[in-house]
Amino acid sequence: MAYVTACDRMLIGGELVHGASGDFDESINPATEEVIGRSPQGTREDVDRAFAAADAAWPTWAALTPSQRGARMRAFGEALKARAEEILQVEVADTGNTVTPMRGDVGMAVESLDYYAGLGHELKGETIPATAENLHITLREPYGVVARIAPFNHPLMFAVARTAAALAAGNAVIVKPPETSPLSAMVLAEIAREALPPGVFNIVTGSGATVGDAIVRHPDIKRIAFIGSPQTGRAIQRAAAEVAVKHVTLELGGKNPLIAFPDMDPDVIAAAAVRGMNFTWQGQSCGSTSRLLLHEDIHDAVLSRVVERVAALKIGDPADPDTDMGPVNSRMQHDKVLSFFQTARGDGSRLMIGGKRPSGTRFERGFWVEPTVYADMKPGMRLWQEEVFGPILSVGRWRTVDEAVALANSTEYGLTGAVWTNDIRDALNVARRVRSGHLWINGCSSHFLGVPFGGMKNSGVGREEGIEEMFSYTEAKTINIMLG
Ligand code: NAD
Repeated sequence: MAYVTACDRMLIGGELVHGASGDFDESINPATEEVIGRSPQGTREDVDRAFAAADAAWPTWAALTPSQRGARMRAFGEALKARAEEILQVEVADTGNTVTPMRGDVGMAVESLDYYAGLGHELKGETIPATAENLHITLREPYGVVARIAPFNHPLMFAVARTAAALAAGNAVIVKPPETSPLSAMVLAEIAREALPPGVFNIVTGSGATVGDAIVRHPDIKRIAFIGSPQTGRAIQRAAAEVAVKHVTLELGGKNPLIAFPDMDPDVIAAAAVRGMNFTWQGQSCGSTSRLLLHEDIHDAVLSRVVERVAALKIGDPADPDTDMGPVNSRMQHDKVLSFFQTARGDGSRLMIGGKRPSGTRFERGFWVEPTVYADMKPGMRLWQEEVFGPILSVGRWRTVDEAVALANSTEYGLTGAVWTNDIRDALNVARRVRSGHLWINGCSSHFLGVPFGGMKNSGVGREEGIEEMFSYTEAKTINIMLG
């Protein structure tokens, strides 16, 4: 099969380059297991080159006015929009995500560039009335060179939307795309090369163990922003601490609760539960409400409706606009999901639907699993505690509000959560007691530009998607002007 991208190079210092090793990694379509492209197998040497280019570029970038930087960022957004359809096709083939919702990813990236382009004017310091006779002020200064390490579920969106704040603050960035879905980064390399000054935006492809680790251990890249699994996040914190004092922010996984009260219509909750599971990304979304906690009065009515809705999901070619769910991203993800099916056998849970690979010749090749629902789930079961990052919904039941809150908080995670009730006191009471960083009342899944997103407990450190994210790419400098 022909490659889906013309470019097979990364971006360093404004040049489209192969890696120092000259080696490549092949990328496969998770729906067919066909090779659809290749990306340079980056090395430590490539990271060093990217650092040198970024380090040379950032002072000039930081010296621009916020309006000038903003104009370049908006031009970058326009250039992305011009190639949005091409990016979409590459992303669908390389990730397995379904085409219809994936259409939003470039738009979100562009909106984020636009938002932070405008926010650059808010990079203000303070005047502090510490003494009457002197002047005490703070300035916000960029770190200089910062890095973004991205996961496989929305590769281009994370590479752009989650570097916009750093660019607005005057930093040059190094992006490390996910190794199982790196191909949209090849298109991004071409676009960023045209739109931004050389060295301001660099992309180094390759494995986490080599390129990711080289970034984390680079003594002069002080600001590392990571989106990925808790295990990798902790490894990054450890590795970073071994070489230098660093500012590491982590957006990690979740095992997020959706708590439904008995005043809710079972149809509404069933629809919300299926939407909140993000089956369109095969459940591969950190914010998925993968634990459905139902009050016992509506438990059976909701559960049967959830099963009906899951049974109606159309699994198949992710490039077909009518498809509801594609394959999971990689063989590793596939095997991980299957291992959850195995451990659930005999653990006391009740398999309601799914729990295996789909049958039929269409599914003989590719990383397919059925959308799955387990009922009678309880704390202590693996599926209750561990993030699957796959299409498995776990359902439990509760009687009192205290019980619901205790169940919601009974995992190591604390990323998102949803509360569904029309009683505002119950809704706020529960939302305040759930130890998660991002709650919805009568909603789920949505992110809102400018509204902070991030996790408590082992779901992360730091908040992104708002003004706080931009400030996190600056260091405050205090100046005391002695006037007396
Ligand atoms: P992962 O942790 O396996 O990999 C993420 C990135 O880290 C990849 O680019 C990988 O190459 C790199 N990496 C791996 N080992 C590394 C190392 N030792 N040093 C430096 N970099 C390394 O995660 P994944 O499987 O790509 O993504 C799934 C995870 O991401 C899930 O846990 C999911 O919940 C999480 N996620 C979180 C958010 C959020 O906003 N909180 C969003 C999307 C995904």
